Amino acid sequence: MKNINFEENINLSNYTTIRVGGFAEYFSKPNNAYEFINLIKWSHLKNQKCRIIGAGSNLLINNILLKGLTICTKKMRSIKIESHSGIVLAEAGVMLPTMSNMLAKKGLQGGEWTVGIPGTVGGAICMNAGSKKLSLANNLLSVQVIDTKTLKIFEIEKQDINFQYRYSPFQENNLQIIRAKLRFEPKGNIEQLLENTKKNLKEKTDTQPYNLPSFGSVFKNPTNTYAAKLIEELGLKGFQIGGAEISTMHGNFIVNNSCADSKDILDLITVIQQKVLQKKGIYLQPEVRMIGFDYP
Ligand SMILES: Cc1cc2nc3c(=O)[nH]c(=O)nc-3n(C[C@H](O)[C@H](O)[C@H](O)COP(=O)(O)OP(=O)(O)OC[C@H]3O[C@@H](n4cnc5c(N)ncnc54)[C@H](O)[C@@H]3O)c2cc1C
Repeated sequence: MKNINFEENINLSNYTTIRVGGFAEYFSKPNNAYEFINLIKWSHLKNQKCRIIGAGSNLLINNILLKGLTICTKKMRSIKIESHSGIVLAEAGVMLPTMSNMLAKKGLQGGEWTVGIPGTVGGAICMNAGSKKLSLANNLLSVQVIDTKTLKIFEIEKQDINFQYRYSPFQENNLQIIRAKLRFEPKGNIEQLLENTKKNLKEKTDTQPYNLPSFGSVFKNPTNTYAAKLIEELGLKGFQIGGAEISTMHGNFIVNNSCADSKDILDLITVIQQKVLQKKGIYLQPEVRMIGFDYP
């Protein structure tokens, strides 16, 4: 099998936006879909567990040695944009802010809101990333996937994917996203699109702690209310465990004050859940994906 390059004992805190993580026994950053598929085939052949991470912007990874192969897709950055039809073919590792700016420059409308989400296309589809009423699934036509158990590669149409609020079946099944086909509205006003993209980024940086390590919203919003509002009403902003702190800027963000470890963060998540449940009667479900924990 050609092009199998991996490193050993890699510190994953360098690959998560919260700057926390354990060590990957084997770690690889494929340059393209071909290398990605070969790595998955290799782990199958060698009977190694295989996990995929994108930009690590929604991950809490336990401070342990993670057995098997961890593949980071961030170097799979090939993107083709057809200006006249609005069709975009993006490899899983294309970053949303990059794609958002490219779309605006080509006059394609509908991706301006994604500029402030520091994740990859694959991660965003898996998480069904969104903002207000918008989500990337709205623009999705289909995904090409590989089944890590059977090694079959196939295309799934958007209508056959059961997307829900911050949920997709890719969070549970054996399918890993290789690339995605999306469609945005062509013939938009480029100046206006660039302006809106800039405005959206400013809105995020003005209201969220962008300069500090975090993983975005920690909890999903419960029906009819906001997790941030519930946390703020309990006066929890600024509350800390070890190096982990509930952001003073946004109640649904936990920030790493440089020395947090995964236990500090998990303990803080648990304390917030307990307090909100006790005082408000609402269970906050984490949006963040946990790796290497016995988390329910
Ligand atoms: C400052 C900040 C702001 C944020 N704002 C938002 C926001 O407005 N809206 C929002 O929805 N989220 C937001 N997030 C969270 C996060 O950026 C998104 O969920 C993002 O889409 C995750 O992408 P990722 O590449 O970082 O995925 P990762 O965090 O690396 O992984 C998340 C999940 O996706 C899976 N995955 C990754 N790649 C693939 C693949 N190729 N195939 C199958 N599964 C895959 C992983 O296994 C994991 O389960 C924010 C985060 C930060 C740090």
